Amino acid sequence: MEQKRTVYFETLGCKLNFSETATLGQLLAEAGIETVEDGGTPDVCVLNTCSVTELADKKGRQRIRSLAKRYPDALIVVTGCYAQLKSAEIVQLPGVDIVLGQEQKADIVKFVKQWLDDKNSIEEVTPTRDIRRFSPSCECGSRTRYWLKVQDGCDYYCSYCTIPMARGRSRSGTIESLVAQAQDVADRGGKEIVITGVNIGDFGKNTGERFIDLIKAFDAIEGIERYRISSIEPDLLTDEIIDWCAQSRAFMPHFHIPLQCGNDEVLRLMRRHYDRALFADKVKRCQEKMPDCFIGVDVMVGSRGETPEFFEDSYNFLASLSLQHLHVFPYSERPGTIALRIPYVVKQREKQERTARMIELSDRRQREFIERYLGTERPVLFEAPHGDSPMHGFTDNYIRVNVPHRPELVNTVGMVRLDKINDDLTVDSTIV
Ligand code: SF4
Repeated sequence: MEQKRTVYFETLGCKLNFSETATLGQLLAEAGIETVEDGGTPDVCVLNTCSVTELADKKGRQRIRSLAKRYPDALIVVTGCYAQLKSAEIVQLPGVDIVLGQEQKADIVKFVKQWLDDKNSIEEVTPTRDIRRFSPSCECGSRTRYWLKVQDGCDYYCSYCTIPMARGRSRSGTIESLVAQAQDVADRGGKEIVITGVNIGDFGKNTGERFIDLIKAFDAIEGIERYRISSIEPDLLTDEIIDWCAQSRAFMPHFHIPLQCGNDEVLRLMRRHYDRALFADKVKRCQEKMPDCFIGVDVMVGSRGETPEFFEDSYNFLASLSLQHLHVFPYSERPGTIALRIPYVVKQREKQERTARMIELSDRRQREFIERYLGTERPVLFEAPHGDSPMHGFTDNYIRVNVPHRPELVNTVGMVRLDKINDDLTVDSTIV
């Protein structure tokens, strides 16, 4: 009887990485290699890494050492953005057997099977810089909501960012293939799809197709009751997309828009593709067309060139808008980025102070937004609780609610009344 083979995964970084890990697990499962939880003696360990900051690289190295120590007999495979950017560094680390770049990631079965057949046959694999392959990914892993990757890579080359180098040129799947994946989710009983990618609005660069046509095609799929766009650049969030989402059947009143800074001079130094006036217009239009809309924003503080005056200007601009959540990142120096040519450097302590001020603003705004809905009823997709956390879900306008555990309601959309805000900005609610 052929011995059952097993694989254990660890993932760092963004939602796209988690979705791709689930897809790698699917590919290996189809080849008879089963995913197992931590502990035991897996034949293979796969670490899917992130490289968005120096700290992310450091965490990657720590995880590699920990995996090699815990699973000395397993094949250790390292993939993801850190593997793509720094394979020469990783392959030197003790216990690492294979480093797979973005282009080779989807061939993981071939490399693992080769090793399982002959442990001395490990092929030296060097990640290629010319990343052109679009590897589809659509998974929910242990969650209730599905993450559907529609686009990968980026051609924007913002001055502080290494993602274009880590994930390659902007590319996407075809509308036909992505609709088939979404239909498959509907056939599996999925109710909500989060559309993900690196620069989603740049969809269709390699296929000549348009993002607006993709979301229209998605909206027509019966069975999927909710879609969210995980993130879209301000200059790519066209009025046509906003207006269409507002009248659509299943696109939620919820946008996440990376602004990065509210000062135009810093935006210029970042080489972003818009100014703050354009951003403010988009926010205004979203709220005119969808008054209950939740808008989340990425904000980077302490980037090179962000003088105290520019920071105050950015803070005041963000405070002047009705935004519901700020996802705040302290700037991190990245080797090979042109931002390193900007002379003005913000001290670590100042970065921490600016981060704290932005987070305080964000929490205040999010609480004010939630208070508008206390005592009212909103539709929620009930999600399976993790461990002993309460059953939870998100309203259409992205308020996280806790409800009494009713397992029969998991993965169904129902109405709740929002009762009480908690310190973590979740809301205890009653199923009505
Ligand atoms: S848009 Fe800019 S920040 Fe975002 S991934 Fe592309 S280069 Fe990086």
